[in-house]
Amino acid sequence: MNIFDLHADTMMDIYNRVGAGETDVLAKHHLPQYEKGKVGAVIYALWMTNQFAELAEYFPETPASAQEAMVKVMARSFREFRDTDAVELARTAEDIERIRSKGKVAVLLGLEGFYGFGGEVGMVDVMYELGVRHGMLTWNDDNEFASGVEFEGEDKGLSPIGVEAIRRMEQLGMLIDVSHASQKTFWDIMEQTSGPVIASHSNAMALCSAPRNLKDDQIRALAERGGVIGLNGWKGFICDEQEQATVRDLARHARYIADLVGVEHVACGFDFADYFDPNDGLPGLMDASECQNFVQALAEEGFSEQELQLIAWDNAMRVIRKVL
Ligand SMILES: [Zn+2]
Repeated sequence: MNIFDLHADTMMDIYNRVGAGETDVLAKHHLPQYEKGKVGAVIYALWMTNQFAELAEYFPETPASAQEAMVKVMARSFREFRDTDAVELARTAEDIERIRSKGKVAVLLGLEGFYGFGGEVGMVDVMYELGVRHGMLTWNDDNEFASGVEFEGEDKGLSPIGVEAIRRMEQLGMLIDVSHASQKTFWDIMEQTSGPVIASHSNAMALCSAPRNLKDDQIRALAERGGVIGLNGWKGFICDEQEQATVRDLARHARYIADLVGVEHVACGFDFADYFDPNDGLPGLMDASECQNFVQALAEEGFSEQELQLIAWDNAMRVIRKVL
């Protein structure tokens, strides 16, 4: 069963590996996993945070500024897209279908934090022109646009340029993603938009108390708009006792959300961490090559074949068709 993965930090892996002198990173490291896991489409989100320097162990080649980092990550990624025949950039739902019909993997470009915009709201248009079709205003930290889930001091929600950015994204036809939003940012975004909004890589807070997970009223609000929630394979978002987390536990989040608002709002957003050394991921769902284990766990959780198809692919495509 083909998988649409709504969240991957693959561009960071490209950045680091190219920085270490490697070439053909997608062909060597990622395509074999996609083939094994039957991954047909992925959102590559460019992760940008003011905590970049503190995360230096993951980014051995720490750039001087967020702007420099953003440009370098994109430059190295675009070169990989150019050189990798089996991966193609998509800008529309039709692009995804065309790319899939050739048996290739479709990549949608996204942003995980607008920190690298330097407070310039016109960067939304610049990113759109470059092919970016998805964005989260923040990672966990605050920036000029909004408060993230680990906001400092007070939860400020959207700033005036955050409101402008969100409205522009909706106008242009970009996926608006609340996965790292603070509570106030989440509700401000819902107030400022009218179309579907997604949470690309978050689970249900009722089953795991991590602040990155969604409360029931948030899940209901996303569902009312026709949005989707991409389930996250990161252990700390699956169980409070994270070392005991299993793939079946992740499938229980799917069951919980489906029972609350309907299966048409459940999708995949695995957030694989196989570029961390060591990979501290979920046993059985360590990287994209193991995606079918999740499909199997969903089946064990009682989802029908038709429902599996919705969760694996169709729900994500429904939103993309509507927004892009
Ligand atoms: Zn994230």
